[in-house]
Amino acid sequence: MKGNFFHATIETMDPEELQILQEKKLKKQIKYVYEKSEFYQRKFKEAGLLPGDIRSIHDLRKIPFTEKDELRESQEKNPPLGSHAAVDMEKVIRIHSSSGTTGNPSFIGITRHDHEVWTQITGRSIYAWGIRPSDVIIHAVGLTLFVGGLPVKDAIENIGATFVPIGTGASERVIFTAQLLRANALHCTPSYAIYLADYVRNKKNMEPRDLGFRKIICGAEQGGGIPAIRKRIQEDYDCFLTEGMGNSDAAPIVFGECPEQSGMHFCGQEYILCEVIDPDTEKVLEMKEGLKGELVYTHLDRECCPLIRFRSRDHIEVWTDRCGCGRTSFRIRCFGRTDDMLTVLGVNVFPSAIRDVVGSLRPKTTGEVLVALEKPGPAVTPPLKLEVEYGKEAVHLAELKNEIETLLNSRLNFRASVDLVPEGSLPRYEMKAKLVKKLWEA
Ligand SMILES: [Zn+2]
Repeated sequence: MKGNFFHATIETMDPEELQILQEKKLKKQIKYVYEKSEFYQRKFKEAGLLPGDIRSIHDLRKIPFTEKDELRESQEKNPPLGSHAAVDMEKVIRIHSSSGTTGNPSFIGITRHDHEVWTQITGRSIYAWGIRPSDVIIHAVGLTLFVGGLPVKDAIENIGATFVPIGTGASERVIFTAQLLRANALHCTPSYAIYLADYVRNKKNMEPRDLGFRKIICGAEQGGGIPAIRKRIQEDYDCFLTEGMGNSDAAPIVFGECPEQSGMHFCGQEYILCEVIDPDTEKVLEMKEGLKGELVYTHLDRECCPLIRFRSRDHIEVWTDRCGCGRTSFRIRCFGRTDDMLTVLGVNVFPSAIRDVVGSLRPKTTGEVLVALEKPGPAVTPPLKLEVEYGKEAVHLAELKNEIETLLNSRLNFRASVDLVPEGSLPRYEMKAKLVKKLWEA
């Protein structure tokens, strides 16, 4: 740790120089995976490939993708960790699980070496957020099994900052502890930051800014990077908000946003390789400014549960121009997951983008919105039905309805039918927000 950087040499490395290092590690990892993982040995054979066929990052394209369903099946057929796991249980020191947003949760094992790598990558991301040894951080996300729990603790302690493990569903404890310990940072989901602000106002008769959190770090869902939500949380708490993103199967926090607030830096440099693909054609896209696509992960240094070309289903936008902080890695913003995506007359619509538009009309709206789907997506016949909460300052509801529908059409290019509902009618979430109501399940 030195000045602005957790690992200055790597974080400021010339991208071409980094690529040489990545290629060297890729060849070693491919050989390891082929020798140790039955799952990948089979996949390679089916594709008619030998480890020697992969000599460059470009050659990676010869290898088929790995899907989450394949990992799940591999684990069901070959417990405990699946035939993709490349070590005996004797070498595994901890088990985590994916959150199971789609399907059953699956387990992820790490060896002592994997643990060191996770602490390094996660540490770079957290340091990029601006966390330093003098910070006292209230951890208000899950602690058990979830990769955003103990690995974050390890990384924060490694930096030398103070980790305060509170977990979820304990707002009274968050408030009490924050005040008593003079905690200056909060790690939570953006939904929780909004929930807590309402909670202290309604139940404690105090302002969120009086809690003293000057740094709020968001993760585990999109929202921290949605302009209307970021603005709302920063104003409510008088704080600086940055966000991070990881993937249970890849590493806990692979991307961390620096105080320049212009996207999350890639922090897995020599440990993970990222590709961006067109999710429909599956073609690899050139990493360049403004690129949009799906993120694909390949481990370059993983012992247990290594992945090659793992489709994350995260849809991202990429920036490659140089950041003011001095880090040379590319930056991203995640705007949704494949499971959340809707298609209205061929136009892709992510609920997080709708939330941004509705939130930009605060205080005429409360910022809360629910997409009401009549049948399973992604295809939706317009108009897309939305429930939007109007705020205290909304006077002419017919005009507001029209304003929201027009703004959605001009900004996101689809036709909506807005049903305005009073403040407090839509559900609030302490962990991740659910933005879609499935009417056929109701
Ligand atoms: Zn930066």
